Amino acid sequence: MEAVKTTAEGTKIQTKAVKAFGAAAADAQLQQMSIQRRTPTPHDVEIEILYCGVCHSDLHTARNEWHGTIYPCVPGHEIVGRVVSVGSHVTKFKPGDMAAVGCLVDSCRECEYCKEGLEQYCEPGHTQTYNAPDKHLGKQTFGGYSESIVVTEGFVLRVPENLDLAAVAPLLCAGITTYSPLKHWNVGPGKKVGIVGIGGLGHMGVKLAKAMGAEVIVFTTSPSKVADAKRLGADDVVLSTDEAQMAKYAGKLHFVIDAVSAAHNINAYLNLLRIDGSLALVGAPEHPLKVEAFSLIPYRRSFAGSMIGGIAETQEMLDFCGKHNIVSDIEMINIQQINEAYERLLKGDVKYRFVINMASLKK
Ligand SMILES: [Zn+2]
Ligand SMILES: [Zn+2]
Repeated sequence: MEAVKTTAEGTKIQTKAVKAFGAAAADAQLQQMSIQRRTPTPHDVEIEILYCGVCHSDLHTARNEWHGTIYPCVPGHEIVGRVVSVGSHVTKFKPGDMAAVGCLVDSCRECEYCKEGLEQYCEPGHTQTYNAPDKHLGKQTFGGYSESIVVTEGFVLRVPENLDLAAVAPLLCAGITTYSPLKHWNVGPGKKVGIVGIGGLGHMGVKLAKAMGAEVIVFTTSPSKVADAKRLGADDVVLSTDEAQMAKYAGKLHFVIDAVSAAHNINAYLNLLRIDGSLALVGAPEHPLKVEAFSLIPYRRSFAGSMIGGIAETQEMLDFCGKHNIVSDIEMINIQQINEAYERLLKGDVKYRFVINMASLKK
């Protein structure tokens, strides 16, 4: 069904209805619904979505746990698909190409951060793939739990052809969220890197840091994850509940990625850093973390954070994964299983990312 929509500026944009899966309210189960997508403008790429990863942010947003969710909410920002049509000015993509979309679909493109390729830190604010103001149609953006998406060319990514497409999807959030800090803090040969927490983010951190040439030490509270962390490439795995094991790495690591979103003692990990070492948070615990001054002062340590990555860096990450044959470990589901998948996600019961086979939405 096609319709004409008049934007706030008075320009008319054609839209068409597409099938999606979303939440009508914070306490509602996700269910099938219809949303409007714009027909491609001259700079747009229209993508038929084949796979969409399930990120913990999807669940937080669908349930309004971070507040500010606009309903209906269609989550999904780990999108892989096939280009079906392009606008007249598009040069990088043609129908039939594989393409990907991550957490961002636009930004101001003019601020100093955007000019540096740091769209994730855009000053006036970037446009997130879902639950952000839609510059074209007003209302909110809708994510990848849908048949198709229309995105401006500059925010569409190329997918390495040698990789399994479904397992590429989680690279768009979990992959770039760990790749960006590893690059920023110069992880490479000769560096000892700690990855705290083995889940969607952590398991990508292990694979990427290892491919960059670092020595990788995983910290987990679960004895059941020790063997798996080694399979993923970890050189050593430490049970963080065991003080003797933790003491072995005190003051020894150059860099730590902390991917834990549950409450935990951050000082135990800051104490692992050697001189000038940094710890970057990529997990987001609900309550403030208690940092002791003497976890930072003695070795001139830094406590930092990092959020996804810019568009150029996301492409660099995808190309790096293509070169090193890196994808996410996934469990494929149909869209009709999404509510059940959210419950399992809450229990950490997935190795290590759910990916929705979007063909199921056509049923
Ligand atoms: Zn995400
Ligand atoms: Zn900007």
